[in-house]
Amino acid sequence: MYLSKMTTTDARQAFEKDPIVVIPVGSTEVHGTQSALGTDSMVPSWICDQIADMENVIILPAVPYGVCPTHLSFAGSIDIGYEGLYLVLHGITDSLMKQGIRRFLVINGHGGNNPSIDRASMEVYHNGGVLACIDWWSVVGQLDERFRGGHGDILETSVMMAICPESVKLEYCQPMNPQNPTEEVKASYLQSASYRGATVRLYRDSKELGPSGWYGPFDPKDSTPELGQAALDAAVDFVRGFLDEFRKFTI
Ligand SMILES: [Zn+2]
Repeated sequence: MYLSKMTTTDARQAFEKDPIVVIPVGSTEVHGTQSALGTDSMVPSWICDQIADMENVIILPAVPYGVCPTHLSFAGSIDIGYEGLYLVLHGITDSLMKQGIRRFLVINGHGGNNPSIDRASMEVYHNGGVLACIDWWSVVGQLDERFRGGHGDILETSVMMAICPESVKLEYCQPMNPQNPTEEVKASYLQSASYRGATVRLYRDSKELGPSGWYGPFDPKDSTPELGQAALDAAVDFVRGFLDEFRKFTI
């Protein structure tokens, strides 16, 4: 069920059954030179479309903006900040908790959103509910090595080729070309560097470590829709299973 297609009468009746409210949360930001700015919200929305038939599950409209201050040198990236995303999530959960909802599941498309999601989650908890969050890309990478990926690399690009092929232009792919701060301090991920094999957190604009706008273990030029579809199937299966368990939580 989609909240946006329900009347308020439908919603009132559905809310009486202690449903799980699912919130797709994304970001509008660079995903390499080759993939769509909407990747992080389009993927959670697609996953939600596959679970919309589940009993006692209500899908909210997607939150298309998130926290990406490190990507602002890339055209089209939009950052609403930690406070901005937290306030959106607070507004959603606070409103619905006043109407009786106690179970929330965020399907998250972007790692930078996590501090805001965690803050909203703790607040929901203190108000007598539970907000769980599934970072889809992280889950599929933990389930199957083939699906490991970083930011805008083979995983996300393959997934976008599966769900919206016209939004991927592999001919625009550029090599990652990481910029290391010094010979000894190597770029290791979006907000970190590696020194003597250990991680140092280092927040800076992502163009400084990956001018190509993607960063990860596997080059997006090798992306395929088949890989993407397999990862999506794994994500959907995981979310469906977790939703069945989530119903059993005592709240
Ligand atoms: Zn992404």
